[in-house]
Amino acid sequence: MTNSHYDVAIIGAGMVGSALASLLSRSGFSVALVEACEPQPFDAQADVGLRVSAISPGSAAVLRQAGVWKSISTQRSRPYRRMQVEDGAQLEPLLFDAPVFNLERLGTIIENTLVQWSLWQVVAAGGLVDIYCPDKLDGIEFGPQQNRVKLISGKHISADLVVGADGASSRVRKAMGIRQDYRAYNQHGLVAVVAKQEPNPGVAWQRFMPGGPLAFLPLPDGRSSIVWTRPSIEAERLLAMDSEVFMAELDTASSGWLGRVEDCGPRAAFPLSMRLSDRYVAQRTALVGDAAHVVHPLAGQGVNLGFADTAALTESIIRARFAGVDIGSAGVLQPYDRWRRAESEAMAFGMHALRSLFDGDGLLPLRRVGMALVKRSWVVKDLFLQRAAGIGGNAPKLATGATLQDLMQG
Ligand SMILES: Cc1cc2nc3c(=O)[nH]c(=O)nc-3n(C[C@H](O)[C@H](O)[C@H](O)COP(=O)(O)OP(=O)(O)OC[C@H]3O[C@@H](n4cnc5c(N)ncnc54)[C@H](O)[C@@H]3O)c2cc1C
Repeated sequence: MTNSHYDVAIIGAGMVGSALASLLSRSGFSVALVEACEPQPFDAQADVGLRVSAISPGSAAVLRQAGVWKSISTQRSRPYRRMQVEDGAQLEPLLFDAPVFNLERLGTIIENTLVQWSLWQVVAAGGLVDIYCPDKLDGIEFGPQQNRVKLISGKHISADLVVGADGASSRVRKAMGIRQDYRAYNQHGLVAVVAKQEPNPGVAWQRFMPGGPLAFLPLPDGRSSIVWTRPSIEAERLLAMDSEVFMAELDTASSGWLGRVEDCGPRAAFPLSMRLSDRYVAQRTALVGDAAHVVHPLAGQGVNLGFADTAALTESIIRARFAGVDIGSAGVLQPYDRWRRAESEAMAFGMHALRSLFDGDGLLPLRRVGMALVKRSWVVKDLFLQRAAGIGGNAPKLATGATLQDLMQG
């Protein structure tokens, strides 16, 4: 039975956990990374995957420090410089253009497997991280000097700090005894890769309709990756129908945007919910990513919040190490908790309010006032955009251009 000690043990190597492993190992911390299933390799010859994310400029800066942005952005990815938001009630669209807000781009659409696989390769090849995979967390013994992590393989590891990056059903969170505010939306997000008559010119387009929004996100070959939020029963119906019938329904829902739907690949749907943890830290333990918070995907912010968590935690513990402070102490973890909880809750409630405002016809007058306000006010638009870009609010330094070297030099 092994019993190795690390500065940090990370449970979960999804996009968020593996980004954190890379950031911390590149900052000189000893890191263990525990993952249940080896990530699926990214295959550039295969068709575009169903799961893509809109990666914000703030997250791109974090991924650059994690050592993967250059390789990701030169593979299969598509930047977008315009966001167009429409309302099913035919109000005038809202346009957000990157140059108006002094941004080079508003975001980049990338397949999740490309992000996760690139991070996994950097972490595995660097030799700086001990990887336990396939293996799973079995339990945590919390201690005053260190935490002991038991894995289902029977191995034990100990660490000054344990991080739960193990997704929405986090076992780490359960072991910490942290309660969550959980709201099921009774909606599913239906995803597919779709070709329209005209190629997507690099615009993230979203139409709000009763039942949920429909988004077309640009892919490198002119097709779009769609996320169509529908009530769960309706999503089941859309999944089950023939491709031709589905394309006809999608045509109607997206009428007026880039012509007819000409082709559609396989479809899948994911249940949508909002989950907010009461706390993100406990004794020598912290949560990042979906383990801490799950938000509605209508503004594509879930993994972006997760990358901001990794940047904030990295910043907090680098500062502690250089001040000679125990990285698992309450004095280091409590400020991280307050910082990231405030940011994630603001985003989650913002998405929740937006979703409610556009869901149904009852609030049409209010919606009209809201759209008009945002359209007229550059300040409101700018605030919204800076947040969505991951560089507004109380963004971590790594998201706004600082390097790991800058942090290590104080
Ligand atoms: C339809 C849809 C569209 C979305 N679009 C966007 C978007 O455009 N932009 C955006 O920012 N976000 C988006 N999101 C949200 C985003 O996908 C998630 O926030 C993100 O994938 C969460 O990453 P994570 O690494 O925190 O968790 P996960 O991806 O869930 O990773 C958790 C990892 O932990 C491992 N694990 C679990 N339990 C254990 C255990 N006990 N021991 C060891 N390992 C374990 C798992 O195998 C997994 O690898 C979208 C979500 C949906 C549903």
